[in-house]
Amino acid sequence: GQAIFSLIQPTGTPHLGNYLGALRQWKSFQDEVTKSSRGTGKTFKLTFGIADLHSLTLRQDRQTRQDNVRKTFASLLAVGLDPTYSSLMVQSHIPQHSELMWILSNVASTGYLSRMTQWKSKINVSSDASMENLDEKSREMLKLSLFSYPVLQAADILIHNADFVPVGEDQVQHVEFARYLARAFNAEYAKDYEIPVLKEPRALISPAKRIMSLQDPTKKMSKSDQTKDATILITDPPEEIRRKIGRAKTDSIEGPLTYDPVARPGIANLFDILRHTINDDSNPEDFAKQYADQSKGALKQLVANVVVDELASVRERFESLMASSNDEMQRALLEGHKTANASARSTLSRVKEAVGMYNL
Ligand code: ATP
Ligand code: MG
Repeated sequence: GQAIFSLIQPTGTPHLGNYLGALRQWKSFQDEVTKSSRGTGKTFKLTFGIADLHSLTLRQDRQTRQDNVRKTFASLLAVGLDPTYSSLMVQSHIPQHSELMWILSNVASTGYLSRMTQWKSKINVSSDASMENLDEKSREMLKLSLFSYPVLQAADILIHNADFVPVGEDQVQHVEFARYLARAFNAEYAKDYEIPVLKEPRALISPAKRIMSLQDPTKKMSKSDQTKDATILITDPPEEIRRKIGRAKTDSIEGPLTYDPVARPGIANLFDILRHTINDDSNPEDFAKQYADQSKGALKQLVANVVVDELASVRERFESLMASSNDEMQRALLEGHKTANASARSTLSRVKEAVGMYNL
């Protein structure tokens, strides 16, 4: 079967964007696998986990960091990921990720890295900034880890021989970069090999590719966004979800509700959340037409209802995991670790052999 791989950063509790854009999609691949064990559905090799090394690019104190790893792992189980079908792992527990990163650094161009957008958005410089025109303060803020983040991410993906990487839209350029690194590595070190050493992965973008902040609907919803009420956490109680959606920024345009992400980003985001939560795959303009005559308040109420319903069981499982001892989570991690570790070791040894560092 094909290998599917994806990670989430433990930079806070996952939010509705993470859920609709990533976690729920991971679970749906697992559903295919469970169906296939009953004779229908497709079979995949699934690996999902926690990018704790990546989350070092966000400053967090020790206790918060530790809590966030536990919360994020509990979230994976709470959305229904099951260690019987999905290998669940923590990035830093498998040192081969970091080792491959160093090797890939030798084919990763800094020119390509400097054109990527994530480091710019994380240090709040414009997306057309380049390394050369950064001021002194921004250069100080731009740590090496934030700049080379995509190289480690490529190592994560490539070390597990992923065919597909289910992610939100913001990560597509990183998966593209991983394809480029696989190609560059194979060309540099393994041109005499019949079978390429590293496999070129593809991004699988979820239909809910970019859920926006409730407070600034021109920015994506993000865990690391500290703006009050900007994100709906998958663990928020119903009254909290209703309150945040009730306060969501919209616009002062009167008349029928329309789907227009440029002129009416707040309303468009509410429509997107509604449509994706109920898994309606119709075209967004057509979808919105059914609600044209509703008031903004009524739309918000509708959105709140479906989100509350969707997240109820996730929250319940999350709370029960967090309240119980770590045993269940530790068991889940142990199984996944064994499988993920074996695949990482085998890829790294082929990589080292290709480079010429295998035997004395
Ligand atoms: P951070 O602010 O720390 O970067 P994040 O919310 O961006 O947190 P990540 O851990 O970086 O979350 O990403 C985990 C997955 O969730 C990725 O596949 C990413 O593409 C997806 N994702 C993140 N935010 C959104 C969003 N607003 N809409 C859809 N998908 C999202
Ligand atoms: Mg992110």
